[in-house]
This record gives sequence, C-alpha cells and structure tokens, in this order.
Amino acid sequence: MLDPPDETSHAPDALAAGSVGSGGFAPAVLVVEDEPGIVDFLQRGLAAAGFEVTVQLDGIAGERSALRESFDIVVLDLMLPKRSGLDVLRSVRSAKPGLPVIVLTARAEIEDRVTGLEAGAADYLVKPFSLAELIARINAQLRIATQAAQTTLRGEDIEANLLTRKVRRAGRQVQLSTTEFELLVYLLRHHGQVLSREQILAAVWGYEHDPATNIVDVYIGYLRRKLRQPGKPAPIQTVRSVGYRLGHVS
Ligand code: CA
Repeated sequence: MLDPPDETSHAPDALAAGSVGSGGFAPAVLVVEDEPGIVDFLQRGLAAAGFEVTVQLDGIAGERSALRESFDIVVLDLMLPKRSGLDVLRSVRSAKPGLPVIVLTARAEIEDRVTGLEAGAADYLVKPFSLAELIARINAQLRIATQAAQTTLRGEDIEANLLTRKVRRAGRQVQLSTTEFELLVYLLRHHGQVLSREQILAAVWGYEHDPATNIVDVYIGYLRRKLRQPGKPAPIQTVRSVGYRLGHVS
C-alpha cells in the first residue's frame, strides 16, 4: 500500500502558526491586553503555536510598540488603561495601513466592536474565545496581508494594486488611464531611481530607440496632474537632461 500523499501528514493544524507571514520565520504578533489571565493565556498559547509574541499591557505602550517595532499582526483589546484600544487602532491604521489588527472585545462592548470595524480592524473576536479560533483568524489575516503585499506596489504615499489596477494616494483613489497606470507601475518598481526617457519609452511603450517624441514628458505631466493633491505636488522629480524619478523632494 502506498502511503497517503504528503499533505495529509501536514494537514492544516489549527494550532500551528501560518507558513505565510515573514518569509518562513515565525510571524511576529503584538498582543495589547491588560487582563493578566488573558495575557498569560495568549502569551503561552501563541508561543506554543509557533508565533513570536510581544505583549504590551496598556494603550500607550501598545501604540508605541505597534508604530516603532515590526510586527506581522496586532491583537488588540479595546478596553485598555491609559489609551483606548480604538485610539490605538486609529493611529495604527493611519501610520501602518498594511498591518492587520484583530480586535478583542467583551460581549458587553458590542457597540465598540462595530466602531472597531469602522475604525479599520481586520477582524474581531468576542471574549471568551478559544485559542484555536484566534489562531485561525490570525492565519487568515496573515494570508490576506501576504497576498496584498504581492499584488500592491507602494512608494511614497502612493499604492497601486496590480490586480484591480486601483491607485490611491494618501488613501484617496486616483483614476488613471491604462498608459498612465503602466507608467506609474514602472516608476514604482524603480522607486528612488533616476529613469531616462529612453528607459521609460522602452518599458512602457515598447520603443527600442527614441523616436524623437515627447510622449514621456506628456504622460509624466498627465500623471503629475492626477496625483497632485492640495498642498502636495506629485512626488515625481524631473532630473535635468536625464529623465525622471519617483521619490520625495530632497
Ligand atoms: Ca481590557
């Protein structure tokens, strides 16, 4: 008899850290929670499941940790000393839009839960919850974050989704034509590098040599106009006699 295929022996274990996250390393989880019993339960349970766990016991320490250190996901209680979980959530959403936050709430705080989702929580769990359920939710969010990282290009405050072809600047959607989108994607892929008109022509329009056209300059102009926001010019620099660069003005 043949052994069953290999995946059966690696059947998804509800209590194992996702293989997604930080490239094979243990996903780093920040837990912000003040109830000692839950802190202990989460710290031991998540560590046993293969996560790297950091705990902060109040809102101020939790916010500081979330913003300054590098985590794959945050598990955030809403009722916290010093600063509310909702305030922490709002601040994390605006500073690190790609960092998923799972909110923990008590059953009596249902309205907070709704507010939490509106404030940008990726998911929520009502206490009491099982470790297996929390881990399943964490793994689901880590998978979503990995997929988003693979399909989204970011540079400065601009995001371009390669699947939906949606573009946002500072969270506001920008409508681009197909060519403008391709041009932006090329600039984002070479964020910070000076690109010559010839390079841009070859990459975006497929010209092998310069057909003596100003089409690059014209489209850079379109793109700048669409990316411009009040008080904020588009972060596309003209590099004299060479070409262009996406990057902030230095
Ligand atoms: Ca609490």
